[in-house]
Amino acid sequence: MERIDILSMTKEELTEWIVSLGEPKYRAAQIMEWLVRGAGFSEMKNLPLPLRTKLEAHAYLAAAAPVKKLVSSDGTVKYLYRLHDGEAVETVFMRYQHGNTVCISTEAGCPMGCAFCASTLKGLSRRLLPSEMLSQVIETQKDIGERISGIVLMGIGEPLDNYDNVIKFLHLVASPDGLNIGYRHISLSTCGLVDKIQRLAEENLPITLSISLHAADDETRSTLMPVNKKWNLEALLPACLDYFEKTKRRISFEYTLVEGKNDRRADAQKLADVLYRYCAGMPLHVNLIPVNPVRERGFQPSNQGSVRRFAEALESRRITATVRRRLGSDIDASCGQLRAASLE
Ligand code: SAH
Repeated sequence: MERIDILSMTKEELTEWIVSLGEPKYRAAQIMEWLVRGAGFSEMKNLPLPLRTKLEAHAYLAAAAPVKKLVSSDGTVKYLYRLHDGEAVETVFMRYQHGNTVCISTEAGCPMGCAFCASTLKGLSRRLLPSEMLSQVIETQKDIGERISGIVLMGIGEPLDNYDNVIKFLHLVASPDGLNIGYRHISLSTCGLVDKIQRLAEENLPITLSISLHAADDETRSTLMPVNKKWNLEALLPACLDYFEKTKRRISFEYTLVEGKNDRRADAQKLADVLYRYCAGMPLHVNLIPVNPVRERGFQPSNQGSVRRFAEALESRRITATVRRRLGSDIDASCGQLRAASLE
């Protein structure tokens, strides 16, 4: 008999399963409390031994095991977690004024092929289970010893390429029986899978959606992001406006600045133009990220002056522009670099 992935279950599913094993309902609540704390079956001390043995026999814990941990001078911590089949993913812990946030991976590798990104260098190995996303949060919280109050789905992988598992994860992590992290403290970043953005709008989850835009015209965007050949700006940006109109949740556009590629004042003007053409009906916010150079890629980040001028050009068109604070730059705390090294 195949063992069940216990950490991917909601409280209701777990209760039903526990009852089917001939156990009283309240055991499900006890087990759930242990799971949230990252305990193994043998540590669940208030369960009778026969039940613990039964759990071992019929269920498995998809726990992410830390194999590497890098601590930055600014308090950012990056983990390389090993999954049960030997796959590895990265998770980053960040301390912000508004609370502790963890950036999780949704896939081992990534199929999207963005030109500047280390996560996609070797393609997609596999998608993560809801339990494997949850375990990254649980294990990190356990290691840090402080409550995690926010999550960003901006690690390795394209969350909307792993749609059903990501939605299940969101339900699990937001559940009061689980980690109880409110949807408003969760951000999901996508390279722009339009059909999935449309589906997400129907889920009615008050999360924050980030769109990785990175260019203001199709030609440049297609060279940086192959996904643009399937879903170009004319498809993506109206879908963003629809999303806003349905959910009333503000969208953030991510724009990675690559020196000489997309960082000139004219690019900023073009960006403002295209955003007004398709998204004039919503608040416009662009988050600028000087590209993090990846050894294999050869892109250089824009200098501070270009970043400032780019931001000013957007602001002068009444588009809010923020510049991503670089946390953990001394530990390479972004974009699949640890995993890539672990595959070599
Ligand atoms: N697949 C999703 C989420 C993961 S990447 C997405 O594309 O949005 C999270 C963010 O980091 C994305 O905006 C991505 O484009 C950006 N990113 C990837 N590699 C980067 C690099 N080398 N420098 C700066 N940003 C990078």
